Amino acid sequence: MNNQRGFANIIILIFVVIVLAGIGSYFALNHQVPPPPPITTPTPKTLPPVPTATPPEASMATPTTKPITSKNLNSNFFRNDTTAQNILLGNSFSLKNAINQDGTISTNSFATKFLNGLRQVGYTGISSLLPVTESSPLAWLHKFQRINNLPKSDNIGSAELLKLDNLVSVRESMDTQLATSLPLSNIVSGFSTEPLTTHVAMLLTITLQSLPSSLAKWNSNNISDYIKTQGPGGDAGGIQYTARGICFLNYFPSLDSQCNSTNTTIVPGLMKDDPSLVYNILHEYAHYLDSKVYTSAGSESSKGVIDTQGFTAISFDTSANCNPSSPWRFFKLKNQGNERSEFVTDYAIGWTVTGDESCKSSVEDFAESFAMYVMQGNTFRKLAETKPVITQKYTWLKNNAFAGKEYFNGNANNIPAVNQALTAPYMPLLPTFIDYLTINKDFVWDYLTGQ
Ligand SMILES: [Zn+2]
Repeated sequence: MNNQRGFANIIILIFVVIVLAGIGSYFALNHQVPPPPPITTPTPKTLPPVPTATPPEASMATPTTKPITSKNLNSNFFRNDTTAQNILLGNSFSLKNAINQDGTISTNSFATKFLNGLRQVGYTGISSLLPVTESSPLAWLHKFQRINNLPKSDNIGSAELLKLDNLVSVRESMDTQLATSLPLSNIVSGFSTEPLTTHVAMLLTITLQSLPSSLAKWNSNNISDYIKTQGPGGDAGGIQYTARGICFLNYFPSLDSQCNSTNTTIVPGLMKDDPSLVYNILHEYAHYLDSKVYTSAGSESSKGVIDTQGFTAISFDTSANCNPSSPWRFFKLKNQGNERSEFVTDYAIGWTVTGDESCKSSVEDFAESFAMYVMQGNTFRKLAETKPVITQKYTWLKNNAFAGKEYFNGNANNIPAVNQALTAPYMPLLPTFIDYLTINKDFVWDYLTGQ
């Protein structure tokens, strides 16, 4: 014991000598170096918290009350949005206050995000044949509340958000699945408040795949050729090839003409709803299939595969082109004044550039009837019951374009409401394509059933 203590004392003594020698030699070697300036950083009055041995995550295993966090949101679309998280904490969002004086909303506003959530789950504008009673963002919100048995309010609260988030999350997984088969990869995305590119890829996929396979050859050349030739056309206005990629200009209003996403203001009423985009794709694709407009591009392409001569001759006198300088085949109507009994939509009658109201661009009749055939088969057949010329057109499409395939979508019960709205003197001769659906102000489009 004593020996051990003595040994320890010797060790300590040696250690002290070494340390003193080290300090001495340090000052001996550095005596000419000025001492370092005093440290001016103030000493914190409170010490930083010392991390505990248990990480915070582990301590959440048995919470007393479940915290409301982004974990309550299921969709990728809403999950990381700070306003959405705030709404779940009880701070509802005033949609009314987010609408600018001129009726626009800002791209980066949660209002835009919420409306885009509604758009992705099939909410549409209300028919232009119906009187306008409120601004379109509020009309969309109130429609959502009405359909989901929520009290009418101009605010988006947690009940609205959780319901919509749930619907969006279900669609997101279906979108991803359906979008994978589209042989195009370079679709440009919009602003973070706008739907993901998988959503428009899905819409393009389901639209073209609903056609007989001979009409939609499933390869990137055919589909990109369609976008290049007819994508920018007409009201579709915009599925365009740009330096940045494929740009759905009308569907993503944040995109400028160079396809750059900008924080801007948008007119909610002009946002294209999903069935309108699908209708536009079908209409423009019908032009692409028309052999009187485009010549065939080979066996792997569907371009120009339908000879529409017989169809056009149903309502038009095709013996003389009354505007031969245009590629859009201008002919005189056979029965001017009989348009309501012969055409499915107002646009199907065609447009004129010659000043002669009887000389019409005949190609729109085929494109509109084609879209109606695919998207509103029930409505087309119901119209045909009382209109022999429309029967002729339906039968022609069934036999010459669709090889017998028929579609059972659209709501023929909406026809009386459309006819009633059209009796007002300021109305067009016939409805637009979308009126046949949206005349029912509770209409929500389901892309899986096409209803
Ligand atoms: Zn057209």
